Amino acid sequence: MFEVLTRWRRERILRRSNLDESLWRAMLERYPFTRALSGEERARLREQVVLFLHEKSIVGAGGLKVRDEMRVCIAAQACMLILNLDLDYYRGWVEVIVYPDEFVAKYDYVDEDGIAHHVEEPMTGESWLEGPVILSWADAQLRGGDSGYNVVIHEFAHKLHMDGEGDEDFPAARSGMDTAKWRSALEESYRRFGRDIDTGRPTFIDPYAAEHPAEFFAVMSEAFFTESAVLARDWPGLYQQLALFYRQDPAGRAET
Ligand SMILES: [Zn+2]
Repeated sequence: MFEVLTRWRRERILRRSNLDESLWRAMLERYPFTRALSGEERARLREQVVLFLHEKSIVGAGGLKVRDEMRVCIAAQACMLILNLDLDYYRGWVEVIVYPDEFVAKYDYVDEDGIAHHVEEPMTGESWLEGPVILSWADAQLRGGDSGYNVVIHEFAHKLHMDGEGDEDFPAARSGMDTAKWRSALEESYRRFGRDIDTGRPTFIDPYAAEHPAEFFAVMSEAFFTESAVLARDWPGLYQQLALFYRQDPAGRAET
């Protein structure tokens, strides 16, 4: 019953939507990884963007006035991760907060020796458990480049992880996946990446991935969507598992 209602509600939203064609085309132009989608995938992405924009509110902070162009760009990148999953994977929260540029995150914590610290650090993105995603527009509008850097994919990968099943290191395998294979591919790749960084072996992956397994998952997700072919070549086992996790094969799409 619930599913029927959801479908009915979504169809109504899609019928009433008027997503601006020029904004949509500008988004495809900006992000090369969306151009490689098949016609059918592109239509599905567009529907998800409409539903995402209906369900989530994208609000400005730090003096930023959010334009429709920004909304479409952020929603499209966020929806790439759930293209073959469902918008329900982003349930339980509504807000995306956008700063014009890097913002300062302030937080307090107490260390193992009981000493309290106050930290203020510049951030390009942040995601809160069952709460908002916070982004810097200066970074969110970047195409990805050769490094595969993509703050929107990074933060929404964290979101799928933290709001879904799994432990603090990695998200749980999806149904139909081999849990042990998924886990060992992530753990072995994380160890290998740590060794590469320690020995100064050149890698196109952001070294920040060595900070924590959860960061490794988010950074590898960026590469999975934006530098798919390179990831599939250099990290085939991990690529294969991410393809099962995201239920898509971006490296198998035609290059544009
Ligand atoms: Zn992160």
